Amino acid sequence: MVNPDAVLQLALDTRQHESRYRHRKTLQSPQGVEVLVDGKKRLGFSSNDYLGLANHSAVISAFQQAANQYGVGSGASHLVSGHSAEHQALEEELAAFTGRSRAILFSTGYMANVGVIRALMGQGDLVVQDRLNHASLLDGGFLCRAQFERYSHTDIDAVQALLAGNSGQRKLLATDGVFSMDGDLADLPALADIADQNNAWLMVDDAHGFGVLGKTGRGIAEHFTMDIDRLPILVGTLGKAFGTFGAFVAGSEALIESLIQFARTYIYTTALPPAVAAATRTALTLIDSESWRREKLLGLIAHFQQGAAARDIRLMASPTPIQPVLIGDDEKVIKVGEYLLDAGFWTGAIRPPTVPVGSARLRITLTAEHTKEQVNGLLDALEKALKTVGAT
Ligand SMILES: *Cc1c(COP(=O)(O)O)cnc(C)c1O
Repeated sequence: MVNPDAVLQLALDTRQHESRYRHRKTLQSPQGVEVLVDGKKRLGFSSNDYLGLANHSAVISAFQQAANQYGVGSGASHLVSGHSAEHQALEEELAAFTGRSRAILFSTGYMANVGVIRALMGQGDLVVQDRLNHASLLDGGFLCRAQFERYSHTDIDAVQALLAGNSGQRKLLATDGVFSMDGDLADLPALADIADQNNAWLMVDDAHGFGVLGKTGRGIAEHFTMDIDRLPILVGTLGKAFGTFGAFVAGSEALIESLIQFARTYIYTTALPPAVAAATRTALTLIDSESWRREKLLGLIAHFQQGAAARDIRLMASPTPIQPVLIGDDEKVIKVGEYLLDAGFWTGAIRPPTVPVGSARLRITLTAEHTKEQVNGLLDALEKALKTVGAT
């Protein structure tokens, strides 16, 4: 018999040789700007906690109080006996927040995307997606057994050609709102027009837009001042700007009922702990009431971009807190990341297969908790890192 470990080790060795081996760093502090990583103090520039709510005292209190009231585990799936009053209230508040009739909680964004696509689409249907969509949308496309087509990033003409040139009983056009590794936005008004013209349903995953984009944090729909009815299937995640955990889908009565009946990743999994829902309800009120967090974040993004330009650091075009520096070479991106870590800055070194081959990048994220001085420090270190590694 062949030892499976020998087979696995071969693939692991290959990944190592390609400079694509992934390692986890261990956090010994809460998420935030000043973090303790593998025993050392660093400034964090890699989390998706854009508004600084993951360690907010009011969110923590809500979590603690709900844990006292409801305990820790939810005990069962939503359809069996795990759907608590906190879940119900949060769903109603998310429906109001997004301006839709209803919303439904999922345990993660990954499960929401896979669950929605598999519940709505099947054999004889057509799914069309941006190539750079989040892995969970793409996996939904692969798993649902519909014809699955991908277009090159933000190529509107290609969307039109795919939707017009292929038949399907049902057609679904799915896109990230904000692209998670690039920080750029989908051209939603154009995509909504094309979806309309071709009888396709538009699904938008606004994981990085909610809380951040739009004057009141309503995400990409508010950013483009689009009528929410033009985005019939709207997905949001709670582990990013909301600072907690989980995800939701917002839409019509018929959509949400269909997911309750048919989404396997909803039906066959344990509900989130009620305390997570309670903490999220508080985060939602902070998104509404503390608009200074969004304003400060916008100021920091502009400050970062100006500082980069002054230092001849080329950034990818992104209006969001995701500010990637394209490096290209896998080994160089690791070296730049390590140089920055030694200088006290924790950023994300992102390599294939997370991003296309030849587009390895440093993924820098800003949050409302950063200061301009901290951003200046990062920029100075980044300038030196890029020169030292020869990555400019
Ligand atoms: C993070 C992310 C997800 C996954 O959400 P989780 O709750 O972390 O599983 C889905 N879509 C996009 C665009 C994301 O960035």
